[in-house]
Amino acid sequence: MSEGICYLVGAGPGDPGLMTLRGKECIELADVIVYDYLSNAEFLAWAKPDAELIYAGKKSKDHAIPQGGINQLLVDRAKEGKVVTRLKGGDPLVFGRGGEEAEELRDAGVAFEFVPGISSSIAGPAYAGIPVTHRDHCSQLTIFTGHENPEKMESSIDYDQIANSPGTKVMLMGVERLPIITGKIIEAGGDPELPVALVRWATTGQHRTITGTLATIAEVAEREEFKAPAVAVFGTVVNCRKKLNWFEERPLRGKRVVVTRTRKQASRMSKQLRELGADVLEMPTIRITRPEGKDSKEFAKAVVDAYTYDWLIFTSPNAVEHFFEAYYAVFEDARAIGGARIVAVGPGTAAKLKEFHVATDLMPETHVADAIPEAFAKKFGSVENMTMLWPRAKEVGDGLAKGLNEAGVILDEVIAYQTIPETEDPTGAVKRFQEEGADFITFTSASTVEGFLDLGLSIPDETAIASIGPVTSRALVENGYDPDAEAKSSDIPGLIAAVVELANEEPFEGDLED
Ligand code: SAH
Repeated sequence: MSEGICYLVGAGPGDPGLMTLRGKECIELADVIVYDYLSNAEFLAWAKPDAELIYAGKKSKDHAIPQGGINQLLVDRAKEGKVVTRLKGGDPLVFGRGGEEAEELRDAGVAFEFVPGISSSIAGPAYAGIPVTHRDHCSQLTIFTGHENPEKMESSIDYDQIANSPGTKVMLMGVERLPIITGKIIEAGGDPELPVALVRWATTGQHRTITGTLATIAEVAEREEFKAPAVAVFGTVVNCRKKLNWFEERPLRGKRVVVTRTRKQASRMSKQLRELGADVLEMPTIRITRPEGKDSKEFAKAVVDAYTYDWLIFTSPNAVEHFFEAYYAVFEDARAIGGARIVAVGPGTAAKLKEFHVATDLMPETHVADAIPEAFAKKFGSVENMTMLWPRAKEVGDGLAKGLNEAGVILDEVIAYQTIPETEDPTGAVKRFQEEGADFITFTSASTVEGFLDLGLSIPDETAIASIGPVTSRALVENGYDPDAEAKSSDIPGLIAAVVELANEEPFEGDLED
């Protein structure tokens, strides 16, 4: 049996982009992942499909697994010869108890590695536009925990030192004790006018900052109902925020946007939304699978015979992907496609074709399947007796086939993939959506709408609905939901632009890649 190992990995403060490359590797390698409340649940999508995922997180008082149990779990699994990745918010060794866990592992003779992460103590201020050190302000930085009970007889926090030593002070934990803590600091001689900032859920879509002074911040926090998790920054560097605030100026800042695409397809859309400041909730409602049984045989035959057709019709990026993956499993030469020409329903499908180095010969003006017969008529007049192959989803409307048949096309349809409702929820997204709601929900196909309804979910009135195009909007309307916005161009950038316009009530002029 190979020997196990435990990686103690810092998952950063929440923004997935702040995970280290080594951290990602450790997630990909893991047989077992033990993760915390604060680490971003979406990292779990990098795990091997059969990895065991164990939630050990804690919200202040409610401990999912007591610390002793976590240590034992890490030791036991590693001793079974497994690769165990223990994910912790921020850095594992900055108030993360990584040191204690490593001691237990060492005592038990289990190999371990520390993988440092970006600590919220640094990243929180940075995302609030506050440099923790700055030559004009300070040359010293203190990081302390406010978790300690300051009323206890022998506090290990030296309030005198915090009040009187120079430089920036950063406090983790203990926001709920701010009135006592700031009181103690002022009592020990701290300047009541000293600027203080609190950054909550720093670097995530829920990121929020409030500012005040040593004398006022506790009151501001109470008024604003500002709760954990938050980082507190004490020091004149807080003033830099007036000039350096950057993250909080983004167009979707603080807005939660639900992405219902398949897990595999969600990531690019989510990334772009996050870059605009959104709190993205990936809640896939559908999953794409290969055709089965008779469908599968017919599809395989059609792929082999594709070169015999005049035209190949693609009405979704999924169809392109499934077709060309099957195609290159059979042929080793791109030229095996022969003289077949290609029609793509829209830019997303054309972009996917391009990934396989296949150019598009025809695209309808409106990017819906039913517009394809007219596009043919406009360009070629008659297409009578032309042979066409349409590798498609199992579930499609009948407009395209009808239109082509009426035009005298000899059309073959085969099923390239099927869409089934996504029933797994490893990141707890469905629960979060039900409990906390969202500002926007996006639908990228009629099937995402159907998958959503199959999950037994409903859209609350306060959640605005954005649809990628007319077919998706129709599916929504048929099910009693009126979309609040429909993308002007039926692709992901169009959909994101529609969300931004809804959020800001003005046209969006940013640049997005498809
Ligand atoms: N090891 C972590 C700290 C763990 S202690 C790190 O290096 O960041 C937990 C405390 O960290 C919370 O109470 C809060 O003060 C802070 N914290 C962690 N993530 C945070 C975030 N995204 N935003 C604000 N504070 C955060």
